[in-house]
Amino acid sequence: MAQKKKTAHITIITIGSEILSGKTLDTNSQFITQTLKRHGFAVSKIVKIKDGAEEIESALSNELRSANVVITTGGLGPTFDDMTTASIARYFGARLIFHQEAWKSIRDYFKHKRVVLTKARRAQAVLPEGCSIFKNIKGVAPGIAMHDQGKHVLAMPGVPYEMEAMCESGVVPYLKRYFRSMAIQEVSINTAGIAESSLERKIRWYVRDHSNSSVQYGIYPRCGDVQVKITVSGNNKRLVTATVERQRRAISRLIKQHIYGYDNDSLPEVVLNAFRQKSKTLGVAESCTGGLIAKTITDIAGASRVFKGGVVTYSNDSKSGILNIPEGAIKKYGAVSGYVARSLARGACRVFSADYGLGITGIAGPGGGTAKKPVGLVYIAIADKNETRVFKYVFPGARDLVRMKAMKHALFNILHLIQHTKD
Ligand code: ATP
Ligand code: MG
Repeated sequence: MAQKKKTAHITIITIGSEILSGKTLDTNSQFITQTLKRHGFAVSKIVKIKDGAEEIESALSNELRSANVVITTGGLGPTFDDMTTASIARYFGARLIFHQEAWKSIRDYFKHKRVVLTKARRAQAVLPEGCSIFKNIKGVAPGIAMHDQGKHVLAMPGVPYEMEAMCESGVVPYLKRYFRSMAIQEVSINTAGIAESSLERKIRWYVRDHSNSSVQYGIYPRCGDVQVKITVSGNNKRLVTATVERQRRAISRLIKQHIYGYDNDSLPEVVLNAFRQKSKTLGVAESCTGGLIAKTITDIAGASRVFKGGVVTYSNDSKSGILNIPEGAIKKYGAVSGYVARSLARGACRVFSADYGLGITGIAGPGGGTAKKPVGLVYIAIADKNETRVFKYVFPGARDLVRMKAMKHALFNILHLIQHTKD
């Protein structure tokens, strides 16, 4: 092809009344978007419509005004509600004809299965004249592609595993044949211990000055930790790699003390690794998190080298009975207090003979708050052999969110401490 390839401007149209009724979650467009991104094609828009010839035709004409590629999923089957093929034919003004190639692929699919090839099956080989065919490796309905005056329509089935196989084996090579793929790279900077809005304030000016059509930033909160994503695209792979790395370093400098890792790094894993590297051990005493910290850490294989044990001392009796916190002191300061958090952390250190002890007490809500001690108030204490530090927070949100945030802040604080302790 002597002509220079064009950039693809892609819209996905997912077809299915069950998607609009909320019965089926549209995972197909997510899969297509991620697959195409991996191959250097960005999706600009996703549209969802119900099964219906008029809906499909009008969506095609609307979208192809700005896009030069429309990818559809759904409605390729043999049932009365499957109208995608006929609608695409009408849009391009093409006749529907019997395709030998498609019929052969349908027969191949049924070769070793004892089924009768009904009229309905044969009808699935009736496709628009002049279309290209994507073989359906995992099912019956073939995919199709048509183009005219630089406008391409690619149709895939709705059944996820059929669509997924066809996307990789048919759609991606088709796009590469007609369009220029770009290098697209993404990095995530994973932070904890800071709210999304505070993080945004720290990087706002930088993002404003550096974002453009090929460098984009996003901030994504995930229940107590926040990811900053940087996406860079361009035609030159080496330049894209260099730019994404430069951006990663620049943003990292601005939020350095809040970072626990990059890309797929998870906070508990990073914490465990830090403990392993320093050959230190941990014990925990939890109240308001009810064992969440112990569970999160022990979810990771190999935690036993670091994690010595945990207790859930939920009642005052258990706090004094198991960890020897004096009843009088609990009454005096309250179960949710810096004093009790400190005693929990020291108790965990002692009971489990651990290098570090983590104590956590708070009011997860929805009840139990007062003006002085509101819902969301959490004390986190970390003890080592030399000293005990206490951190006080008021986390907004419902019970689950308060507990989740408390857990993440506790892990992040202990990570900070262990990373900055010499020995
Ligand atoms: P079939 O030959 O099975 O009729 P089809 O191409 O006509 O295939 P649909 O009838 O639209 O596809 O969808 C078949 C099934 O695939 C749906 O019942 C639904 O469970 C699933 N499905 C369809 N579209 C999506 C989507 N966008 N995301 C996830 N699942 C989907
Ligand atoms: Mg169907």
